[in-house]
Amino acid sequence: MSGAKTSTADSSKNRDKSPKKTIAAQTQRAPSQSATARNDLEAYWVPFTPNRQFKAAPRLIAKAKDMHYEMTDGRKLLDGSAGLWCVNAGHCRDEIADAIAAQAHEMDYATAFQMSHPKAFELASRLAGMAPGDLDHVFFTNSGSESVETALKIALAYHKIRGEGSRTRFIGRERGYHGVNFGGISVGGIVGNRKQFGNMLNGVDHLPHTHNLEHNAFSRGQPAWGAHLADALESLVTLHDASTIAAVIVEPMAGSTGVLVPPQGYLEKLRAICDKHGILLIFDEVITGFGRLGASFAADYFGVIPDLMTMAKGISNGAVPMGGVMVRKGVYDAFMNGPEGTIELFHGYTYSAHPLACAAALATLDIYERDNLFQRAADLSGPWEEAAHALRGLPNVIDIRNIGLVAGIELAPRPGAPGTRAFDVFLECQKRGLLIRVTGDIIALSPPLIVSQAQIEEIFGILAEALRSVA
Ligand code: PLP
Repeated sequence: MSGAKTSTADSSKNRDKSPKKTIAAQTQRAPSQSATARNDLEAYWVPFTPNRQFKAAPRLIAKAKDMHYEMTDGRKLLDGSAGLWCVNAGHCRDEIADAIAAQAHEMDYATAFQMSHPKAFELASRLAGMAPGDLDHVFFTNSGSESVETALKIALAYHKIRGEGSRTRFIGRERGYHGVNFGGISVGGIVGNRKQFGNMLNGVDHLPHTHNLEHNAFSRGQPAWGAHLADALESLVTLHDASTIAAVIVEPMAGSTGVLVPPQGYLEKLRAICDKHGILLIFDEVITGFGRLGASFAADYFGVIPDLMTMAKGISNGAVPMGGVMVRKGVYDAFMNGPEGTIELFHGYTYSAHPLACAAALATLDIYERDNLFQRAADLSGPWEEAAHALRGLPNVIDIRNIGLVAGIELAPRPGAPGTRAFDVFLECQKRGLLIRVTGDIIALSPPLIVSQAQIEEIFGILAEALRSVA
């Protein structure tokens, strides 16, 4: 590796063309005097972000509390998207911070293979108690992406141990987002996330997405039109034969591609077709889990129980990375048949059920329960819907859709410049003290579940002003 890193002198020369804006300039702190501890904006490769544009005008958050962020220049931003759909109990909750600190002092890490620690079991039991139906086992991961890979692998292994090893095919859905690892981008349906990488999992096919403005524009809750789109699964089964299909994976409500609410009856149909053909149904609940729709999970909300359910984000309120896959009893039991000394699933992460993540998650679940936050989200979903749909008629708004404490506001794209209009709205909102999330030309709102009615009005009031100000 020697020589792989350039010397400090070289690196400053190489960085001559880099933006000169330093973090110190952003934070008013004195720049580090140490030549080896450079603190400029160049080294960090910011994810899912146009780096050159960002580094020319960086947006840096310094603090967070409850519903607000504070930028490095002291400006406050109301958080309209619960971080990245993860801070469901609001930011910097003392109970969670205290639990993490106490755990870090008591035991920082416990070997995760052939050993474990009590909080892992405590958390698994709590989750099994919360999850619907017989989704009563959990495999822990560290992110949504890892949860997806884990679920796909469990599905393959499940069929194999039952003597149906020919079931290796996955069915995803167009406009699905299942994280960024190879399984996830293969079953996912976001073109931009796939085309740069080329090499996908073999044998994946996709259902059509359910988004249709002609039939469903300005729907409130589940649109009436579109259940028949689930019939495409029957066609794919006919095409590929059920004996080749391991699992279907969908987000019960697609979040990242702009809040696509499932049509009435759609998920029920998917469930029935999967049952008919022995195909596992995986719900990716990384966004929808932990109260986002006003129920513990979307599976509860829609009354459709998958065989495997991925989760992450809200499980630990975003405070420590954590994820997991909830597994139905029948699936788990199928693995528990071989000799007792044999590893049943050759899979796991160094940080599966990390003690800090478990401590954060347990404290998070306590808050959700004590403050009845999922019910609160359900109670607020009516006023939320009214406030969202009041944007109808504002410039360039071509659709508004909502469910639980989620809203999608779709804008007409500028000819030849897709995404730029929503990005300008994002910047205008920030000027006015609101952080929103945009994906293409769709604004996706999903505040922490502690949002007050006044803050709901503030969110949509600022957004309305921003929409009026952007051509
Ligand atoms: N699955 C869904 C439905 C998601 O929305 C996300 C992230 O937004 C992921 C998976 C990936 O999660 P992570 O970014 O934690 O890997």
